[in-house]
Amino acid sequence: MDFEKLAELLYPHVKETPEDVEKRYPPRTLPEGAKVTRFAPSPTGFVHFGGMYQVMIDERLAHQSGGVLFLRIEDTDAKREIPGAAQSLIRTLARYHVEFDEGAAEDADGNIVDRGPYGPFKQSERKHIYQVYAKKLVSEGRAYPVFSTKEELEEALNADKKTENKTKDWEAASEEAKRETLENRSITYEQAEEHMKNGDPFVLRILADGDGEKKVKFTDLVKGTLELPENDEDFVLLKSDGIPTYHFAHAVDDHLMGTTHVIRGEEWLPSLPKHIQLFRYLGFRQPKYLHTAQVLRLDEDGNKKKLSKRDRGAKMEDYDGLGYPPESVIEYLMTLLNSNYEEWHAQNPDRPYTDFPFSIKKMSTSGCLFDFDKLNDVSKNVIARMSAEQVCEQITAWAEDNDPEFFSCLKRSPEQTKEIFSIGRGGKKPRKDFANWRDAKTFVQFFYPEYFRFEEMPEGKDGKEIASVLASFLESYDPADDANGWFEKVKAVASAHGYCANMKEYKEHPEDWKGSVGDVSEYIRVGLTGRKNSPDLYTVMKILGREESERRIRLFMETVRSES
Ligand code: GLU
Repeated sequence: MDFEKLAELLYPHVKETPEDVEKRYPPRTLPEGAKVTRFAPSPTGFVHFGGMYQVMIDERLAHQSGGVLFLRIEDTDAKREIPGAAQSLIRTLARYHVEFDEGAAEDADGNIVDRGPYGPFKQSERKHIYQVYAKKLVSEGRAYPVFSTKEELEEALNADKKTENKTKDWEAASEEAKRETLENRSITYEQAEEHMKNGDPFVLRILADGDGEKKVKFTDLVKGTLELPENDEDFVLLKSDGIPTYHFAHAVDDHLMGTTHVIRGEEWLPSLPKHIQLFRYLGFRQPKYLHTAQVLRLDEDGNKKKLSKRDRGAKMEDYDGLGYPPESVIEYLMTLLNSNYEEWHAQNPDRPYTDFPFSIKKMSTSGCLFDFDKLNDVSKNVIARMSAEQVCEQITAWAEDNDPEFFSCLKRSPEQTKEIFSIGRGGKKPRKDFANWRDAKTFVQFFYPEYFRFEEMPEGKDGKEIASVLASFLESYDPADDANGWFEKVKAVASAHGYCANMKEYKEHPEDWKGSVGDVSEYIRVGLTGRKNSPDLYTVMKILGREESERRIRLFMETVRSES
């Protein structure tokens, strides 16, 4: 067979050679050791937490080494594509501070455009490039067309794959496949010409030269050296519409775009022999690979389960609604990526995560276990370190999108909102009260009349007694007092009503008193906040102001009186 002639028959319109194409994609000039990585999502939905984990590795490896990170949109499956998904994932990644140096980007009108000279970065726009390499492989006898008549195609489309799979005798099927492969491989030029004349569609298959009984060695950056069977499958390179399969596009694109490190999910590991085969046929240098394990979570019984898209926390797009600052999620991801990150962060609390020396060697081979409790811990620390201004800005933005009523509370008096979120902030040991803006709302909502109600009550106390203590408190209360003066008055009220003002003394002889100053504080606390736990009361009263503080305490007095 004259393969050159066959190549010309199949791809008469392809005039360029691989050398022509290579000229448009010159090797990058980068510093020694610089890594070129890419994130290559299909625009079929959202950014999965596992994808975020991968792109963080891409980002760190590239930017830590003075290299390049680019974004490629793998839109080869038009049926699964969701309009707007590419734009949405670009925005999500930007929110998580993933900055691409090149690749697909969104312009001001919401169109996906190319940035940088190694594009196009949407695979659907690269058809002509794949065909150049396809033609070359055909001309070398390393790929061949498999034609189907239109009737056959239709039949294949209508075949019920599921029932076929269930009833299949696998051994017989594999024999049949082998026979079919041999038959397909032996297509003659004349047969191909006939099909072309009839306009029959064809797929292009690789002509595998591997031996499935033999192993090929390969080193994954995290999993170490692995042995996989050589590829002996004549897999498809180009589908009948000229769209490449993942395998072919991966080889051509990552070669031309100069990728040095491919970070991808371990579901691609079994395909690796195909890729090794392709890179060899095409004379491309193979990149290094890091296959990440699936993200797992613990179910109610403590069993490890795959974090599926229906699970809370699986979609990066959900974290905004859940009220987690992007910084918290990034910190959390860093702790998952490198187990020594937390220690480093504790020692360098003021340095950005980008200063941390991320290392592949410190990655766990078993992948990552997603855990909301851990995320909450991390997030509490992140929020505790924010300034009141940052907190106000973020919680207000969250409320605007998710909670209009709370938003209007926050907006009513920005000064008051800032005072509220200044509580316990700054200083050496900032309070770690909340992990997300939803919890923050629960924590502070008592300040706002819309939400204020008596949620808890002092236990075992007589209503009249409480009311009479609070009446004395109101009489002595002077908003001009400082914190010390305020507390001295509370103690004086306590003593006057037979409550011990000194906790130590009280603990020694509780029977001598009605209670302690702690009980008096609790009356005031529940009156002001509706709860038994709250921030410092003096501060709470300052923020509420005299009028509102007195109104609440009077309301509480009435309530307990009527209940007694
Ligand atoms: N589009 C592929 C996927 O989403 C990319 C895999 C890769 O990074 O090579 O799984």
